[in-house]
Amino acid sequence: MSILKTRALILKVIHFGDSSSVVHFYTEKHGKVAAIAKGARRLKSPFRGYLELFACLEIIYYYKPTRDIQTLSKIEKLQTFGADTTDWQFAIYGSVVLEALDKLTTHQPDKAVFQLAVATLNYMSQHPNLLRSALVKFLLQLAELSGYRIDLWSCAICHRAMEQSFFDEARALLLCTDCSHPLPKRLSLDNSELQFLRHLQNSDWETTLPAAPHFQENAFLEQMLVHYLTYQHDLNTHLKSLDILINMINPHTQEKQP
Ligand SMILES: [Zn+2]
Repeated sequence: MSILKTRALILKVIHFGDSSSVVHFYTEKHGKVAAIAKGARRLKSPFRGYLELFACLEIIYYYKPTRDIQTLSKIEKLQTFGADTTDWQFAIYGSVVLEALDKLTTHQPDKAVFQLAVATLNYMSQHPNLLRSALVKFLLQLAELSGYRIDLWSCAICHRAMEQSFFDEARALLLCTDCSHPLPKRLSLDNSELQFLRHLQNSDWETTLPAAPHFQENAFLEQMLVHYLTYQHDLNTHLKSLDILINMINPHTQEKQP
């Protein structure tokens, strides 16, 4: 058994037994880690107040390779995200980031993915008017870090430059108008959406991100990118937080779903 120390984000907390919790982390050094916080729900537990989402923590835990669930020893809060905002939208957008981190990444430790998530939540805390831009950029960069950078410039079949594009959901490809001929129009990206994605793909977190070109009531770009990631990772998964986001944006219509 060894003692490990790393920075971490909490992905989810599950009640365990009468007073304990099992905490799922995305850690900087060791990727996804599940650890039991014994007695965490007791009044005098040292873990109380620390097992909340949207914080960057430093954790110390006992590690045994034969165990699926490790034992949490100590936890310290380094930074809270969204603390200055009373805007509940932060929590909804932030939840998509955490669920994507949980479900759309491999079990391989990846420091860059951890840093991307921290940068995204940080940006969302500081720019509550650019939550969508930050989420879309996060998904684009997550694809890139996973080795699946999306080509937003040329058609995946004929390689000609694209003015507008169509998302072929069966193969998770962006295609030009000609190559996408039999595809339904509902999966189209117009020129302003393409420019928005290109701008986000090439910008860094230090700059002001562009705002989404027009209001989309179905979060199409987010859905497309989540679909793209699940396809590339060959996963059969679904982000519940994205459904909540779409419902929040528009409780009535849910068209154009990849
Ligand atoms: Zn083409």
